[in-house]
Amino acid sequence: MIVVGCSAAETLFEHYISATTEYFQVTDRLCNLVGLHDQFDAAQRQTEQAGAKCRAALLAIEKHRVEHNCS
Ligand SMILES: [Zn+2]
Repeated sequence: MIVVGCSAAETLFEHYISATTEYFQVTDRLCNLVGLHDQFDAAQRQTEQAGAKCRAALLAIEKHRVEHNCS
């Protein structure tokens, strides 16, 4: 997915990339905490939040593209 010529869409895309990176990081940590129940529960909540952030960032891109017709 490459965005050309729209700085607003580029900014939204950067948000999406950073949300995705964060999601991978917390998911990776979650894998390392299997068996450690207290830490796992906390990491699982973080992973869910990071996942929601990814989906919201992606929706924001799609919404912008529909409204701005700049895909
Ligand atoms: Zn745009």
